[in-house]
Amino acid sequence: MMISYEEFADRANAIRSQIAAACATAGRDSREVEVLAVTKTHPALAADYAARYGLRGVGENRVQETQDKRPQTAPTSAALRWELIGHLQSNKARLAAQHFDRIQSVDSEKLLNHLDRAAAELGKILPVLLQINAGDDPAKFGADLAEAPRLVAAALTKKNLRVDGFMTIAPLGTTPEETAAHAQRTFANLRHLRDDLAARLGTPLRELSMGMTGDLALAVAAGSTMVRVGTALYGAR
Ligand SMILES: *Cc1c(COP(=O)(O)O)cnc(C)c1O
Repeated sequence: MMISYEEFADRANAIRSQIAAACATAGRDSREVEVLAVTKTHPALAADYAARYGLRGVGENRVQETQDKRPQTAPTSAALRWELIGHLQSNKARLAAQHFDRIQSVDSEKLLNHLDRAAAELGKILPVLLQINAGDDPAKFGADLAEAPRLVAAALTKKNLRVDGFMTIAPLGTTPEETAAHAQRTFANLRHLRDDLAARLGTPLRELSMGMTGDLALAVAAGSTMVRVGTALYGAR
């Protein structure tokens, strides 16, 4: 059952307040932080709510689901950006390049090659983020921190890709305190990696997609420019 739009708007307001508070503490401008509405497993109406509220993008974790859902959204939602935040296999790169406006889960040179070729065939420049396993979580996808410089260098040579920055997911702990400590360490690692590579390569790599329902304030404190929020907007999946 989908919540009402009014309920959605209340929840979105509460998230914006949480972001504003975290920004105030960190001395940041809250306009630097975008909320990406994570609509996976929810109907097309979830994306329509996001657009009506004024959010600019939605996140999905499966190519097929987006291929089905996107055409079902209202004409007034046409300007929404659809971003892939789930793991992508190389053999689905072409479909992903076709149905998404940005891919946040690029974690290997092989995938870079496939996406670059697909974008060329589609005649588009495809924006990407590089997914880094910045918390060293054995259960997570993403390139290791140590591999990141090579991956970024390779990505920057691709003529049909535009490298906007990075994405990461923090590992869960066994207690709330441990989870928070993992999140802080993970987000700080990604921030430092970005600052270092941006300076060395002379390119902004501006986007830091980090933070979800459970850890968005910590992510904003560490410099997140995009929090990916599902549960706090739409309820449990
Ligand atoms: C599902 C998902 C989210 C949203 O998580 P919530 O805890 O529901 O806010 C964010 N990022 C990624 C990569 C996801 O797969």
